[in-house]
Amino acid sequence: MTTTLTHLIQHPLVCEPSEATDDHIISYNPATGEPIAAVRKQTTEEYNAQVERSNAVFKEWRMLPAPKRGELVRRIGNAFREYEQPLGELVSMECGKILAEGIGEVVECIDIADFAVGLSRQLYGLTIASERPRHQMIEQWQPLGTIGIISAFNFPVAVWAWNSMLAAVCGDTMVWKPSDITPLTAIAMTNVAHEVMRNQDIFTPEHGDPCDVFGLIIGTVEAVGEPMIADRRLPLISATGSCRMGKRVGEVVGGRLGRSLLELGGNNAIIIMEDADLDMVIRGTLFGAVGTAGQRCTSTRRLLCHESVVDKVVDGLLNAYKQVNIGNPLEDGTLMGPLINEVAVENMRSSIEQATSEGCEILCGGVEGIERFADTPGNYVEPTIVRVPKGASMPEVVKEETFAPILYVFTIETLDEALEMHNEVDQGLSSAIFTNSMRNAGRFLSPEGSDCGIANVNIGTSGAEIGGAFGGEKDTGGGRESGSDSWKAYMRRQTCTSNWSADMPLAQGIEFG
Ligand code: NAD
Repeated sequence: MTTTLTHLIQHPLVCEPSEATDDHIISYNPATGEPIAAVRKQTTEEYNAQVERSNAVFKEWRMLPAPKRGELVRRIGNAFREYEQPLGELVSMECGKILAEGIGEVVECIDIADFAVGLSRQLYGLTIASERPRHQMIEQWQPLGTIGIISAFNFPVAVWAWNSMLAAVCGDTMVWKPSDITPLTAIAMTNVAHEVMRNQDIFTPEHGDPCDVFGLIIGTVEAVGEPMIADRRLPLISATGSCRMGKRVGEVVGGRLGRSLLELGGNNAIIIMEDADLDMVIRGTLFGAVGTAGQRCTSTRRLLCHESVVDKVVDGLLNAYKQVNIGNPLEDGTLMGPLINEVAVENMRSSIEQATSEGCEILCGGVEGIERFADTPGNYVEPTIVRVPKGASMPEVVKEETFAPILYVFTIETLDEALEMHNEVDQGLSSAIFTNSMRNAGRFLSPEGSDCGIANVNIGTSGAEIGGAFGGEKDTGGGRESGSDSWKAYMRRQTCTSNWSADMPLAQGIEFG
């Protein structure tokens, strides 16, 4: 580990793996199976103390003008720039994505910080025509409070940045519970933000520590996660992860009438029509299905391919898959790193076995592609293509999101049939169509087209830009974060009516007294 990396993860909670006890989480490198470091699990008492501190500092943070909060976010974004390479390496090391993607994730954090800085001068409300004379009606946005951020292992830094950079300019403070698989990246990002907050004189609260704007808590679901979602001191819980987790969070937060922003699993498909540019199809599908070893919420899991081109597409993909270099994500030339852990490998194996038992044909990878790495340290697998027999109903295994590089290929005859199969699954995150026909594209983007939160034309399902609102429908949870007007989720809307007349007219013309 380089000195900068060691510096980035320096923290009272972190120790050598050899010093770990039952009270520690060990962070493993999925590429080697080796432990990187150990992190002490925090307790419910420590969680409560963090919420109290973040709540206390909120009282003053909310009164700092938004552009000043933006100035601090600008400095944090610049600090991410300074540490881009080592942070990208740490993401690669801890969650196994290739270095280009690890750095890409840090770039996403920089981008959203820039976006938030601009936003800090644009938290616009409305003026509304009042029905009463000499009255003024406005709608304004107020900070919400301390928000809870729960994040998944596969975007260990970007999801936090999407939430925290926006929440910070909106005047909120936050408490972040990262995935317990990726605690080190969370510590590193928080260290960078805290370094900025410690060395500034823009926000010097009378009570509390500026660092508590960006609170972090590392702990288990039992000690931290569950208390967090039930905690009435947190008006908003932004949770990213599996649909299973989201259902639990939605239920508990809804039970206390809190707000939740849910970013859950996907089951993303590409429709390929007879007039598609097949070279673009292969490139878009390869990145979507194999990139991040199929461990993106937006990964391409299903291809709905017109019968006139399906064989060509399959041949092209088989050829492209052969060139995928599988190996250590930090090494040059690697295109696919490992899965996150052994459980993920076993989940992939059981999905492939189920697909076979449901009548599908394994075209490459498969169980053999898992066995090939049985004696290699690390959680490596081969990306797998599964062909579903034409005319068969959708196999049950396809309806679930297996977080691994498995691509199911279906043969379709018409766009109607493709749209029906496309929308048949419970998840509704990302979708795409490849076509050169305006009519096909228009229909795909129409109300009777894709039912997902993201719908692309001649671009794969994966790799969204931060400028748009990100999120999905149905079991994906309905939340939106990142760009567009997603910031509104982090604020409370207030309708204000001022009377500058000497009269007291009532709305609806009511006479009273
Ligand atoms: P996961 O659901 O296992 O865990 C996600 C987070 O939720 C972790 O921090 C975990 O500790 C926490 N958690 C779990 N149960 C909880 C509870 N009862 N109370 C509070 N917190 C709880 O997900 P994962 O395996 O880390 O990530 C992969 C999943 O995340 C996939 O389904 C993927 O599609 C999804 N994901 C979605 C998006 C999106 O924006 N839609 C982005 C990234 C990942």
